[in-house]
Amino acid sequence: MANQDDQFKKVISHAKEYGYVFQSSEIYDGLSAVYDYAQNGVELKKNIRDYWWKAMVQMHENIVGLDAAIFMHPTTWKASGHVDAFNDPLIDNKDSKKRYRADVLIEDYCAKIEAKIDKEVAKAAKRFGDAFNKEEFLSTNGRVVGYQEKIDGILARMGKSLGEENLADVKALIEELEIADPLTGSRNWTDVKQFNLMFGTKLGASADSAMDLYLRPETAQGIFVNFLNVQKTGRMKIPFGIAQTGKAFRNEIVARQFIFRMREFEQMEMQFFVKPGTQKEWYEEWKQTRLKWHLSLGMGADNYRFHDHDKLAHYADAAADIEFKFPFGFKELEGIHSRTDFDLSQHEKHSGKKLQYFDHEENKSYVPYVVETSIGLDRMFLAVFSNSLVEEELENNTTRTVLKLPAVLAPVKAAILPLVKKDGLPEVARKIVEELKWDFNVVYDEKDAVGRRYRRQDANGTPFCITVDHDTLEDNMVTIRHRDTMEQTRVKIEDLHDIIKQEVDVRTWLMKM
Ligand code: ATP
Repeated sequence: MANQDDQFKKVISHAKEYGYVFQSSEIYDGLSAVYDYAQNGVELKKNIRDYWWKAMVQMHENIVGLDAAIFMHPTTWKASGHVDAFNDPLIDNKDSKKRYRADVLIEDYCAKIEAKIDKEVAKAAKRFGDAFNKEEFLSTNGRVVGYQEKIDGILARMGKSLGEENLADVKALIEELEIADPLTGSRNWTDVKQFNLMFGTKLGASADSAMDLYLRPETAQGIFVNFLNVQKTGRMKIPFGIAQTGKAFRNEIVARQFIFRMREFEQMEMQFFVKPGTQKEWYEEWKQTRLKWHLSLGMGADNYRFHDHDKLAHYADAAADIEFKFPFGFKELEGIHSRTDFDLSQHEKHSGKKLQYFDHEENKSYVPYVVETSIGLDRMFLAVFSNSLVEEELENNTTRTVLKLPAVLAPVKAAILPLVKKDGLPEVARKIVEELKWDFNVVYDEKDAVGRRYRRQDANGTPFCITVDHDTLEDNMVTIRHRDTMEQTRVKIEDLHDIIKQEVDVRTWLMKM
């Protein structure tokens, strides 16, 4: 645990030190769970967004984009169920005055039991060696089966109580399990209350005529209310998708995990409209397609897993998360949800407007079913950033800090370095910058010894350093150094463009899907 905490702290401080993420309004001591993206962060975030947009929109003939407003007519949120049901159960500790999500306290309790299972598995794997069969062990070892039954029992009871709004039982469960405040150990809890996560605001000048609005808690509804406009004007045929990226706002009860859980964040969502009855196939298809997108970035297949939901939201007939191994363990990175015809039907009901598709093959109209893929851009940023930050032991017994960002996402693709600040080398380096900057984000750096400049670019995540030396003046060749291997080769200036392009091009990466 201590190790995980240390690693996470390193991620946060590196993000600040290298101009990736700052706390919002830091000079006023910050605003809780709100963050700003700095000079490098804004580029990395944009590159992740572009990588998603290319794969999800431009590479699909039947998916188009949208940029809906953050403000929406308030009835939207009545229809979607957010006004009545977008709640989290909160509980306060009377001694520490700390606030928690009741369901998260219970889930964390279960995670501890799961850790015990993992320990038993590791022990047995060691004992039995090659003959170890994990599946068999999990289903036959008495102690492990007991642990698993306990977890299942707790989660089933919590799911049932939350589903029935029986908050007294959620509290009873916390008390029965003797769950204590993780910070202080106190078990002096208040009752559990529901808390709506939407931020409210007002539209209009005078107090009495002002209209109550919400900041959107998800981008999906902007897509649903535009479904027919897009379908008609784009002459879209089912199955088809509408995608958008944009800000969403949630008044999260507990937000202590850097950009993992923010109050203002960005989503990248795609709603795929399908013929009723085909949603299961599409759901499976999108689960696989989205996983492939993640794997194309080469961050390690072991770092991803699916988590199928047992307890479904009111609108879904199937749902799964793609979980990623963050520094604090496996957590949700993306959700894939089969949302049935819930949203469109609700908007039909509340608006009195038909939101149906006329299917020429079937010769009838119907409300399409929807399969959604929804990923948090900031969470993806954290996944990429935390996974890339490594401390490497070098052969000469020193260490280097290197941010091994997938080159396609790296904010700066190449740094151009004159070996010394004189003898005409800066001029040649500047000329290379002028040429490359048309196609790539590159920087010029002449400060400090070249070794220090290399280290700086390593820590910054720059895939290439290009050094201009005295020989360059004679032979028009430069040294190109690769961040991950530290390998250096001598290449012609005129070949630089193609060498960089090969490594950072979206095509190269997406072809791996
Ligand atoms: P969680 O269970 O972590 O609260 P959720 O299931 O409520 O997430 P969704 O409503 O499915 O999340 O939202 C889709 C995606 O948006 C999530 O997979 C996540 O990547 C991102 N997301 C949701 N809430 C936040 C937040 N507060 N900060 C950053 N990203 C978020």
